[in-house]
Parts: sequence; C-alpha cells; structure tokens
Amino acid sequence: MPMSLEYDKKHLWHPLTQHQLHPENILIKKAKGALLFDEQDNQYIDGIASWYTCMYGHCNPYITNKVATQMQNLDHVVFTGFTHEPAINLAKALISILPKNQHKLFFSDNGSTSVDIAIKMAFQYHFNKGEKRKKLVAFEDGFHGDTFGAMSVSGLSIYNGPFEDFCLDVERIPVPNENNIHLLAPRFEEMMQKGDVAAFVYEPLVQGAAAMKMHLPEHLDQLLGIAKENGVITIADEVMTGFGKTGKHFASEHMQNLPDIICLSKSLTGGLVPMAITSCNERIYRAFLSNKMEKGFFHGHTYSANPTSCTAALASIELLESEEIQNRIKMICSSHEKFNEKIKNHPKIKNTRQQGIIYAIDFNVETDRYGDLRYKLFDFYMSKGIYLRPLGNTVYILAPFIISKNQLEKIYRAIEDSLNIL
Ligand SMILES: *Cc1c(COP(=O)(O)O)cnc(C)c1O
Repeated sequence: MPMSLEYDKKHLWHPLTQHQLHPENILIKKAKGALLFDEQDNQYIDGIASWYTCMYGHCNPYITNKVATQMQNLDHVVFTGFTHEPAINLAKALISILPKNQHKLFFSDNGSTSVDIAIKMAFQYHFNKGEKRKKLVAFEDGFHGDTFGAMSVSGLSIYNGPFEDFCLDVERIPVPNENNIHLLAPRFEEMMQKGDVAAFVYEPLVQGAAAMKMHLPEHLDQLLGIAKENGVITIADEVMTGFGKTGKHFASEHMQNLPDIICLSKSLTGGLVPMAITSCNERIYRAFLSNKMEKGFFHGHTYSANPTSCTAALASIELLESEEIQNRIKMICSSHEKFNEKIKNHPKIKNTRQQGIIYAIDFNVETDRYGDLRYKLFDFYMSKGIYLRPLGNTVYILAPFIISKNQLEKIYRAIEDSLNIL
C-alpha cells in the first residue's frame, strides 16, 4: 500500500463510513471533464457528477480561470457591514433565473446549512408576527442534510437513531402518488389548518438520497396550494434538483405554486468550492424588517458569500444558460429515453424512471439500502471504468452535462452487463 493511503487509513475519518467494515478508500489523483483518474491512471467516468456538483465537468477552465483571477484580487472579506461585486453580480444572474417570486438571497456554506437557515427563517417569520408555530411537515424518505435542523426533517431514520431525542418536531407524510393523493390531500389539509405548522419542507419532484424516488408535479402542486392557503411556509430543497437537472433550471418551475423559500448548493459553484444559498420571497423578508434589532435574522457564517465561491457560482450560471449546455441537457434527456425503451422490459428490472437528466433503475432483487449488493455492483462498475453509487436495488445516472455520447453509451453498457451479476 502506498504511504499516503496508509496515512489516510490511520488518521482520516471519512463521512458516511463504517471504517471497521469498509477500511479501504480509492485514491483519486486527478479529475478532468467527466473523468476521474486514480493513482495508476485508471479512468472512471463520473456517472454521478461527484454527488451532483461538477455538472460542467471537473476542473472546467471557464470556471477555474475566473476564480484564479478573482483570488488575486479579493480573497475574502466579512459580509456583515461589507459587500462586494462578486456577490452582487452573482445575485443579478441568479435572481434572473430563479422562480420569479424569489427576491432575497442569504449565503452559507453547504446544503445542510441552507436548509437549517430556511427552517430558522420560517420559525422566526411566524415568531416575528406574534404566532408560535413549532411544527414542521416533511416527506417520508426525504433527505435534507446532516445538521440538526436538516436531519430532523430528513426521513432516513436508522442513521438518525442516536439523535432522534434531540430533533425538531416533525410530522411526516408519504410522497404523493396516484393511489394515495385522494386520502393524502385531505389529511394534509387538516394538518395545515391546525395553525401549529410553521413550514412544509420537501425535495421537489426527485428525492435524491432516497435513490431518486420521483413524484408528479400536479400532486406536489396540490399540496403546495393547500399549504399556501393556510399560511404555512413552503421550503423547496433544490440542493440536488437545482440548476438544470430536471429539464428546467429549477424543479419548482414544474409547478404553478412557487415556494416561499428555496435551498441551493451542490452544483451552485460547479463543484469547485463549497457554497450555499437560501433564497426567499419578499413576504418572508419583510417580516424581519423592524426598528427592533431582535427582529432581524441573527444567523451568519464566517465564510458567507466568499468572493471566490461567488465567482465560481456566477461562471457556472453563465455556462448553464449557454446554448451548448442547454443542447447537451436535451441530448442527455433523449439519450436516456432511448436507453430506457431498450431496457425497461428486461425481467431483472422492476422499475425505471426519469426526470430530465436524472435516470434511475430498480433491479428486481431484495436488498437493504447499504446491503452487500451495492458493493458488488459498485466494484463491477468500477472495473468497467464507471463510477456509479448504487443504493439498495437502485442504480441511477446523474452525469455531468458535458458527458459525451460515447461516455454515456459506456455507462449504459455497464448497467446492461451488470444485469448478469444480479
Ligand atoms: C446533499 C443534499 C443536502 C445536504 O447538502 P450538504 O452540502 O451535503 O450538506 C440537502 N438536501 C438535498 C436534497 C441534498 O441532496
């Protein structure tokens, strides 16, 4: 084993890892475009864009050049009392593509904090208006992050076990579908009418960590309408779905009822540096304006609106809006559709689904979320030069927009071949 890996094993604690069962990590030396390179220079196609971040390709020169220039000029400055052009220019670009009710941007560092901020905004919104609303409503199987607020509204509870006693008060509802919406809608309405729910938090259309579970816009829209009628704040967690992945810039655009608050991170900066934004409409913001200090929002992170992060985000949005990226999104969508037609009736496939460039397959086998199958499949795909992260019996593709037709074909072929090892 090379020295550096030995040191990793001895001193590094990796996220979401049971080190006793899974002590090994693969050392990645380099990344370019849709490819990752390990120590032996083996190539892997990054089929999940490193958790949906590097959508414009790893080390995209358009982004890295702009950031390199910015770094020479203004690296960081406190964002309380000061402001700067990278933040202002990013705001202009982002507000021009966000759903049209979004009015104010609040900066933080990662998806989890963007959700915690949204929840705190919702609680304080009601508090400032003299109402005590202590409850949150969220979907079963949702995932919103690992800090306390975000973890509380997440539903993947076997991993929350040690913390459940410390979580916020959250009521969970199933994701709507054709069969349950008739019962769910009236039940949801009853919850909303009680007057104790501060906010409804949801991943619009696609639940990423639940292995790309999908629901229909008309059903979600119905729930959003009910929340809105009852003064409950709607929080769209678009940390995963944001920036073009569902076929529109934001998943929220597929519905008529726009969210009050939107959480953004992951591909916001094209994967180069961490940053998150919580955006909100004017109604939310106005509830914090007062001559009293304490009605303001007293939440702030040291690296808020870091100028280099803002620069990376602005460059990413410019790429997203370019004709080239928009064409590639169309290419990936139709390519997935064709592959789906070919494979969906295979006896070892239980279910397939697609939303924009997100494509998922459930295999016809029984297994746990972190059961043995996913490790077997993971190793199989890696041996074919493809990085995919199966969850339970689901494998999904969420590749960078810049992936080539040829690279996509390689992923499809690896998935087809993997049917033989099930
Ligand atoms: C990844 C993710 C988060 C958490 O983001 P981090 O940056 O990992 O804290 C929150 N919500 C959704 C929908 C996500 O996919």
